[in-house]
Order: sequence, then C-alpha cells, then structure tokens
Amino acid sequence: KVRVRFAPSPTGGLHLGGVRTVLFNYLFAKKHHGDFILRIEDTDQSRYVEGAEEYILDCLKWCGLQPDESPVVGGPYAPYRQSERKALYREYAERLVMQGHAYYAFDTAEELDKNRKEIPNFQYGLAYRDSLRNSLSLPQHEVDALLDAGTPHVIRIKIPEDETISFHDLIRGHVSFETNQVDDKVLLKADGMPTYHLAVVVDDYLMKISHAFRGEEWLPSAPVHLLLWDYLGWKSDMPQWAHLPLILKPDGHGKLSKRDGARLGFPVYAMTWFDAKTGELTPGFRELGFLPEAFLNLLATLGWNDGTDQELFTLDELIEKFSLERVSKAGAKFDFEKAKWFNAEWIKKSDASSLQSAVSAVLADKGIVVTNEDYLLTVINLIKDRCVLIPDFYQQAGYFFEQPKEYDLNAVKPKWTDTKTDFFNALTALLNSDQAALEAHSFEEAFKALMDEKALKAGDVMLPFRIMLVGGKFGPHVFDIASLLGRQETISRIAGALE
Ligand code: GLU
Repeated sequence: KVRVRFAPSPTGGLHLGGVRTVLFNYLFAKKHHGDFILRIEDTDQSRYVEGAEEYILDCLKWCGLQPDESPVVGGPYAPYRQSERKALYREYAERLVMQGHAYYAFDTAEELDKNRKEIPNFQYGLAYRDSLRNSLSLPQHEVDALLDAGTPHVIRIKIPEDETISFHDLIRGHVSFETNQVDDKVLLKADGMPTYHLAVVVDDYLMKISHAFRGEEWLPSAPVHLLLWDYLGWKSDMPQWAHLPLILKPDGHGKLSKRDGARLGFPVYAMTWFDAKTGELTPGFRELGFLPEAFLNLLATLGWNDGTDQELFTLDELIEKFSLERVSKAGAKFDFEKAKWFNAEWIKKSDASSLQSAVSAVLADKGIVVTNEDYLLTVINLIKDRCVLIPDFYQQAGYFFEQPKEYDLNAVKPKWTDTKTDFFNALTALLNSDQAALEAHSFEEAFKALMDEKALKAGDVMLPFRIMLVGGKFGPHVFDIASLLGRQETISRIAGALE
C-alpha cells in the first residue's frame, strides 16, 4: 500500500517549497489510493518554535490537504510527534553500536569547537576519528569507565571507508555518493533525543512508509539514511525516494530562501507567520489574498507539468494527472507575476458564492457591512474578472456599497460645458420620471437617445458618468453599474458630483 509522509520540523512558518512537498506527497498518495501521513519531527529542541506545529496544521487545513494520520487525528502508528517517541530510538542506536556500525563519542562541545576553529574543513569522521575521544579511539576499559560515570556522550554512525553508495531516485535516477565525503553524523544526542537522521529512518520503517518525497536539500543526507536502512537490516523495506527540485529565485540564481520575500517584495510563506520570540511578522500568500486553489495550482506547476499546455488544474485533476515522471530535475523559477495570474484565473473560475465570505471579510475590514447577500453575489459576479487578489474586491466593489469618497473632478469635468450639465439634469429627470425598472440595456438606449438629442458624443458624457458612479476610471460596463446601484442611488450620485 502506498504510504507517504510529510515530516516537517516545527521551526517556523511554512515556505512555498514545504507546501509543494506536501502537495506532491498528497497527490501521489491520493492517486494511488494510499495514505498521507503528517509526522512532526521535533527532536531538535534547540530549534523548536512555539506555535509552529499549529501553524503547519492550519496551513494544511487552509490548503485542503488533510492528512489521514497525524498527531491530531491519530492513526495506527501513533504517536506522530517524534518527541513523544523518544524512548524507542535508543534501542536502535545501541543496536548499531553493538554491531560496530556506530560508536560512543565523548567529545565536549568546547573540544569540537576548538577543532572546527583550528582544522580547516574539519569533519568528525574517518580522518580524525582516531584522534578524538570516542569508543573507537579509546581503550575499552576507559570507555566503560566513562559510561559508568555517566559522562555525557552521543552516538555517531561509523561511515565506512572507500565505499560508493547509490540508490535510484524516482526523479533523479541513479544517484551515488562516496563515503569518504560523508561525516560520522550524530544519531543519538547527549539528552537521549535522536537526531533527524536516526529518527527519520526508524519512523519511516515503523510507519511503513512506501515512498518518501522531500526537497533536494536533503539529498546530501541520503547516504547516511541508506547506510542506516542497511545496517538496521531493513533494506528491503526502504521507501522509494524522490528528491524534489528546488524552487529558485525569480532570476534563477539560487534557492528561493525564507529571507528573499522581504527583499523581493512578495511572500514566500503559505500563511503569515508571527514569530512570538522575535516579534517578527512574515507575510503569507493567504493574507495577501490568494485562494488556496490558486496557491496549490501554482505550486503544482513549480517543477511539474502534464505534458500539455494546460496550466489551470483543480485538485482532483492534479490527483488524476500527477506523475513523478513529469517532475523535472531542474530547479523551478518562482515568478510572482505568474502566481498572481493563477489567482486571477481562479477568482474568475470561482462561483460567487464560494468567494462570498472572503469578500465580505475584505469589505468588513473597510467598515462596509453587507446586509443583502444576493446583492453581494450579483456584485461579485459583475466584478470578479477584474480582481487579482481578494482585497481587490474592495477597490473594485466598494462603490456598490458606499458613495465614492473622492472624485477625480478633473476627470469628470474636462472641458465641462453647460450642455453637459443639461444632459445630466435631463438624465436625472428621465430617471425620476421613468417608473420602469432601470434595466441596463434599455437604460443604455435611453442614455444614448438623450446624448443624440443634446448633440453630445459618447466621449463627452460616458466617462464623466462612470466617475460620478464609481469615483474613478475603472469598473465594469457603466450601465450594469447603474442598473445594480438602482435609480435613487444613481440620481443621488449624479447630484453629488454636479454640486
Ligand atoms: N524533518 C525534515 C524537514 O524538516 C524532513 C526531511 C525528510 O522528509 O526526510 O524537512
């Protein structure tokens, strides 16, 4: 059975790349009728950040990528938070020591720091192992004495000498590493917590993970994981791996990092992240006004396509069409303008009713309380093609709920003439007299007839009329606007502008 996992460390907000990893895992699982598991990898207490786990859960909820098993919903392999599984990792680390694949290391942080300072490119491994304080370099009785005395120590993997380690990556194909380049990673820390390397292997095994997709930045860790799978005797159960291409800065130069957003003027986080410790607020796509459907759609296209020109996909379509064969090896450039295009397309595609609550919230934020929901739906339908981000609904729709606060009078009255005043007075009279419904089409005809009568051209009065109604040179067809605003409101806006 296909079982995939997203295994974030709760160290802060979720970057675009993190959500794309979730998405690809999710799509693959759903396509193969498998399970999508959320496992919280919180064994590095020094990097633990309060609130990050809730944030990750909220983010998955917002995106609609709900895990089948997680710390919240539970599941057959609970607990799904590694800190709660602490007790089970030591056994595996000790087993590796017994087999000679790992060893105790007693070096203090100061000793290691000193080495790092004094030895260029210092790595704890083959080259220096013998000169450091560990169970490979010290005589057995000394090791026993240190252990008996409760000397703080870690357990490190013993990376073998002169071996080539390779595996088949579902995206990158054959990948190999020279063990001499790899250092003896810590597996179990002095506080008894496993490191990521040990925990990820043990848990992927115990949770029966069949496929593991993660960002390319984890590729250098793969040899350590491969050795662990092998040494622990689980090689035949090892998940198939795929390392997903990096998401690059817009210019293609390097990985898009968490810090890039502020500098480049667009968010890189899924949702706004508030770091309680530093007081720092990092803006997110959700708060900027992205729809989750658009956000997922744009993430799906970062490193994947279906082989056609199609760019817009619903989640169901993505599930149906997704395949790892079409995920590229090369990094994918992130283009914020393109991201906005996706959002605009998704706003167009969405039913007014599905936008209703988001739009109400945007309007409420500006002090507009919507009382007539049907009116709101009509307004949304009329203007949604003009909105790129959800907050644009205020700029594009605010005038349907309140008189424009400011007029660009220079635009309303360029070369204003008495004839134009006459025209609008006559128009007002017409609106007052005509008891028939103010229907867009017939109103347009009446408007044009009046124009002819006064020997005015469309250019003379159409734009002024628009500005009277909406306050600027924007918006849908002006007669649609008037018709929706209604007779009284139209009259009063003309009067207001003519004052
Ligand atoms: N805990 C790792 C992270 O924070 C997971 C990497 C993996 O999927 O193996 O991304």
